[in-house]
Amino acid sequence: MSASLRECEPLTPRLLDLLISRSYLSDMTARPILTVPNPILKQISTPVAAVDDAIRALMDEMLESMYEAKGIGLAAVQIGEPVRVIVMDLEWGKADAPDHRAPRFFVNPEIIWRSDDLAPYEEGCLSVPEYYDDVERPAKVRLRYLNRDNELVEEDAEGMFATCIQHEMDHLEGVLFIDHLSRLRRDRALAKVKKIKRAA
Ligand code: ZN
Repeated sequence: MSASLRECEPLTPRLLDLLISRSYLSDMTARPILTVPNPILKQISTPVAAVDDAIRALMDEMLESMYEAKGIGLAAVQIGEPVRVIVMDLEWGKADAPDHRAPRFFVNPEIIWRSDDLAPYEEGCLSVPEYYDDVERPAKVRLRYLNRDNELVEEDAEGMFATCIQHEMDHLEGVLFIDHLSRLRRDRALAKVKKIKRAA
C-alpha cells in the first residue's frame, strides 16, 4: 500500500506522533513544532539535572504544543529545547472518550533491556508532517527514567508504548524515524515536507 493511500485512512492506533481525529482548542498559543530539515532536530539533547518547576513548566508547554498539533508524543527538542524530556499521551483522542487525557512524562530515559523480537509499526512524526512509513523496532523494552515528580522509575513497555517511547528517545539523539528508512524513502519524505511547506 502506498503512503498516499495510508494518509487517507482514518486514524488507527498504529499511527504515532500524529493526527488524531478530533479538533483541539485552536485559540491556544502553543510553541511551534520544528520540522525537517531544521538543524536543531539533529542536536543531541542534554540530560536534565533534576525535574524541578522549570522542567515541569517546559513539560506543560510541550503538552500544549503536542495536543494542539494532535500528536501523541513529543520530545523537547521538537519545540527547540534540546533537553532529555519527553511527553506522551496514548489515551487521548479516542473516539469513545475524546476529552480524556492521561499525559505521561519521561526525563533522561534509558532503555535498560530490549527484546530480540522486532515489531513493525507505521510511524509518523510531527516534525515530518504528513509522511508515514513502517519502522521495525524491538517489540518490548524496559525503561528507566525520572517522572514528573523527579522519582526514578523502571517500567516495561510493549505495543504502541514501546514503539512510541523508542521513537521519542531517538529524537534525544538527533535521530528521526525517517533515518531508519532507505535513502530513497527518506528523500521522498523530505521532498514531501518541502512541498507541503511551499504550499502553506
Ligand atoms: Zn517524532
